[in-house]
Amino acid sequence: MRQSLIMGNWKMNGSRAEGQTLAKALAEGLGEVSQEVAVCVPFVYLTDIREVLASSPIALGAQNVADQASGAYTGEVSATMLADCGCKYALVGHSERRSYYGDSNATVASRFVQAQKQGIVPVLCVGETLDEREQDKTFEVVDEQLDAVIDAAGIDAFANAVIAYEPVWAIGTGKTASDEQAQEVHKYIRERIAARSQAIADKVQILYGGSVKPDNAKGLFAMADIDGGLVGGASLDANGFLQICHSV
Ligand code: PEP
Repeated sequence: MRQSLIMGNWKMNGSRAEGQTLAKALAEGLGEVSQEVAVCVPFVYLTDIREVLASSPIALGAQNVADQASGAYTGEVSATMLADCGCKYALVGHSERRSYYGDSNATVASRFVQAQKQGIVPVLCVGETLDEREQDKTFEVVDEQLDAVIDAAGIDAFANAVIAYEPVWAIGTGKTASDEQAQEVHKYIRERIAARSQAIADKVQILYGGSVKPDNAKGLFAMADIDGGLVGGASLDANGFLQICHSV
């Protein structure tokens, strides 16, 4: 039985004080839950938010991680630094990184490997654009994104990783994949992993991301291969995010 995971992605939003207020509201409002909850916050606020969440079960995550261990990589933040700041998770290959900052499948694989070397759990984001879906390329795109990481890290690395299926056309657009559309791709991803290792496929958490809201979370999370959500916009509102957390 896989534990569910609900992860907020604050993206590049809010001030230090707003982040602290949001984290405090989450810590105070979460109550008893069996699922895990995490928030991926801007690098510069990691230690502030860590302090606010110190006595809560909510885990801390980063939104990216360097593809190199250390050295002359101006502007990058290493996995060692993230571990030092108390991060449990780091997103790798979010579609906004892939499309706006040119992250290739190879770079994403290196980020994944660097995160794991420091004990950070990488959350590998995969998903197709609207064009790719309309050309029936969804599975092909997801295969390429997954295979690049499996080839670099090995299938056993997925014992300590999370996968997030995020159709690009559903991120921040208000268009959610239907429960069945999302389940179809989640099942495909799990089968793809199972072809290499059934044990890992049974264990790996696959989150859905793309306009998850309080009113659609329950249906998505009820699907057999959807183990929780990666939530962007709706994670900036404490009440809404808490409702999503309780939709599992
Ligand atoms: C995301 O940031 O990963 C995301 C899924 O955003 P949203 O929930 O706003 O679509």
